[in-house]
Amino acid sequence: AKKAGRSCYRFYTAAIQQKATRHLQLVNALRTALDQQQLSIHYQPQLAMTDGRLVGAEALLRWNHPELGSISPGEFIPVAEDCGLILQLGEWVLRQAVRQARQWRDQGLALVMAVNLSAVQFRQADLPALVARILQEEGLPASCLELELTEGVAMYDPQQAIAVMNALHEQGVRMSIDDFGTGYSSLNLLKQFRVYKLKIDQTFVRDIETDPEDSALVAAIIHMADSLGLLTIAEGVETAAQLEILRSHGCKELQGYWFSRPLPAAEFTAYARQHQAT
Ligand code: C2E
Ligand code: CA
Ligand code: CA
Ligand code: CA
Repeated sequence: AKKAGRSCYRFYTAAIQQKATRHLQLVNALRTALDQQQLSIHYQPQLAMTDGRLVGAEALLRWNHPELGSISPGEFIPVAEDCGLILQLGEWVLRQAVRQARQWRDQGLALVMAVNLSAVQFRQADLPALVARILQEEGLPASCLELELTEGVAMYDPQQAIAVMNALHEQGVRMSIDDFGTGYSSLNLLKQFRVYKLKIDQTFVRDIETDPEDSALVAAIIHMADSLGLLTIAEGVETAAQLEILRSHGCKELQGYWFSRPLPAAEFTAYARQHQAT
């Protein structure tokens, strides 16, 4: 038993060491990723429930490292947050996405560009000024930009969050709550946040056909959003059956593999042409 205990311990420390090594490796690699043009953005279509019209795009960061291969944002975003690089990365994504939205607009493709915002970015006092500057320099109307925040971001320091949201709202920038339902939102605060859309988390959508509780939860979220005057979008829609249940619950917008995976800009343009955005 002693022997097993010791080898178990050794296994445990080895796993921690491996994780620490990978973390360090990613931090070092991330420092040069931007300069070496290893980062890119894919865009995932967002569609209206009523007529399937393309209404928006979510910008999703991609990292392809020459030796480490493609690394998922789920792994490297937290690393970038830990080492402070997220501010630089976040600003880059924001600028690229705004620039792309402006290009599509010039081509007659009117879309709202949704950009994910990390908690670290949101806590920067000059965030509203940065957003205003990028919109102005790239020539995109503020109403074409949507910032996605998670519940945790807003709950960390509600007073600060309200101040920042007010400033962004005054500029005309839209804000949505990402992964809605997975965190803890006070309904009272939700009312004070200048949010215009709730993104229903994909964990609820995944089991919506088989789990009556998930289905009821989604219905309740949509009902609540309706009465607060908020839009709803379901993410992670993968099947026609999920789509129909979401339709019956009155969900307003959709995003997921059933329609399209996140696409490089050129492929997104082709997709948009086929889906008759106006
Ligand atoms: P998220 O914001 O919740 O983004 C949705 C994720 O679900 C994306 O994963 C997307 O590719 C994936 N997805 C979309 N449709 C489906 C579907 O039908 N089924 C399934 N199973 N998945 C679907 P991705 O691109 O790997 O991004 C993971 C997370 O990384 C994002 O979650 C977001 O939190 C973060 N992230 C990505 N790009 C950025 C960024 O530019 N800035 C920040 N701060 N975070 C980012
Ligand atoms: Ca998101
Ligand atoms: Ca999400
Ligand atoms: Ca998520």
